[in-house]
Amino acid sequence: MQPIHIIGGGLAGSEAAWQIANRGVGVVLHEMRPAQTTAAHKTGGLAELVCSNSFRSDDRDHNAVGLLHEEMRRLGSLVMRAGDANQVPAGGALAVDRDGFSQAVTEALASHPLVEIRRDEITALPPASWDSVIIATGPLTSAPLAAAIRAVTGEDALAFFDAIAPIVHRDSIDMSVGWFQSRYDNAGPSGTGADYINCPLDRSQYEAFIDALLAGDRVSFHQWEAATPYFDGCLPIEVMAERGRETLRFGPMKPVGLTDPHRPGVKPYAIVQLRQDNRLGTLFNMVGFQTKLKHAEQTRIFRMIPGLERAEFARLGGLHRNTFLNAPKLLDDTLRLKAMPRLRFAGQITGCEGYVESAAIGLLAGRFAAAEQHAEQPQAPPPTTAHGALLAHITGGHVETIDAGPRSFQPMNVNFGLFPPLAKSPSHRAGGERLRGAAKAMLKRRALTQRALIDLDVWASGTAVAAAALPWAPTACGAHRSSAHASTHDLS
Ligand SMILES: Cc1cc2nc3c(=O)[nH]c(=O)nc-3n(C[C@H](O)[C@H](O)[C@H](O)COP(=O)(O)OP(=O)(O)OC[C@H]3O[C@@H](n4cnc5c(N)ncnc54)[C@H](O)[C@@H]3O)c2cc1C
Repeated sequence: MQPIHIIGGGLAGSEAAWQIANRGVGVVLHEMRPAQTTAAHKTGGLAELVCSNSFRSDDRDHNAVGLLHEEMRRLGSLVMRAGDANQVPAGGALAVDRDGFSQAVTEALASHPLVEIRRDEITALPPASWDSVIIATGPLTSAPLAAAIRAVTGEDALAFFDAIAPIVHRDSIDMSVGWFQSRYDNAGPSGTGADYINCPLDRSQYEAFIDALLAGDRVSFHQWEAATPYFDGCLPIEVMAERGRETLRFGPMKPVGLTDPHRPGVKPYAIVQLRQDNRLGTLFNMVGFQTKLKHAEQTRIFRMIPGLERAEFARLGGLHRNTFLNAPKLLDDTLRLKAMPRLRFAGQITGCEGYVESAAIGLLAGRFAAAEQHAEQPQAPPPTTAHGALLAHITGGHVETIDAGPRSFQPMNVNFGLFPPLAKSPSHRAGGERLRGAAKAMLKRRALTQRALIDLDVWASGTAVAAAALPWAPTACGAHRSSAHASTHDLS
């Protein structure tokens, strides 16, 4: 059996190597450090954490990344094993001793009989003799390889200095204020004429909003990022506001072609539009609201917008250099490049965000590649699981914008907005007590995580089992994306 070549020994590449080797397939892991390094890495260790030492919440019952931790543990993850073994106190979060963590990953792979680690930089597309390759070179993919990938994908850009717009949970938008309508009711090639949620501002609200934007605290550039250009001239909203108080009213906040059905006789002074971001319709992004305001400032300032007073953000805006593919267009549902299927991608380069998410996508890529080497059909996990939800976002859950302009697919952390909704949200405690507010939200999260872990176990075992008797009926996961695998809910 040919070995699988993995390029990049970061979070994703290391996890993929472990998963493959533990399925009896040989791996050659190519890592360019320490001879050739990146602007953020400091060591030659595998799975080096370049910034924070936190894997975020470890609450598997109520938090999407905590759930991802638990799923990875159940799937035999090396990253989680090394993380758990090198844990440092951090309250409800899983934080690790970064050197101990990286050393544990490096030692586990170096001592595995089926893993060969080669310290070399891959500077071109892999030779044709490598029939199965995973590219996991991360947000700081070296320039020659990035150029080769760009050429084979036919995309005009791969590395950007990106200003990212915030994404809001649909059910936190006050629809007694906002309304669905596309500008001039224009359906476009794939819309309905009512694809956007609109939030109106009167003059005094607009002026107060501009004042807050101009005074808001911003994130500063890293020195090494300064030379990277903005993606498609995507200017942060506060930079636009600096160019003149009316700039936004003639740009992303223009009020033309829209009528407020709640107050048809009143012409809004400005309007914020939110566009559906995932196929499920649970997430909406704030159109044109890319920003480098600090996170706390974004929450405070964007909640000044009528209709968004109680907005919950699935992702806040941000600004950092990144390298990622337009994955929904370029990758198939097991992460292979459609244009060259012997190449599979994993980690942040696929458009996920964060250490844990990158490792989780590495885990899946490794399993898919190993299954292929065994002449088996790789099976994607159900989208009701954290792994499946993340994969679905990357390979097809995101909806393309109906407008011309910059591509809309952006990296995202795992969050409950990516999961298919429950058919019926739990509203009562077992004793019959009716729940509201935070208690209801917690119970809903618990229902989502329970559903996920049941479906994950079924997927992992490859065996369909009888539906577990949950007190409420979860949605059939096949409704969101067809999964070749039987799920407990497909059976019910
Ligand atoms: C400055 C910065 C700060 C960040 N801070 C955080 C944070 O605090 N928390 C968080 O969760 N996420 C953070 N991230 C995101 C984080 O980097 C990723 O989530 C995660 O490391 C990505 O994992 P990966 O395996 O895809 O890439 P990486 O972990 O970066 O691994 C990629 C590996 O590929 C190697 N490589 C690159 N090109 C080649 C080549 N041509 N040949 C051979 N090897 C190559 C690199 O040396 C590297 O070891 C940050 C990212 C950056 C850039």
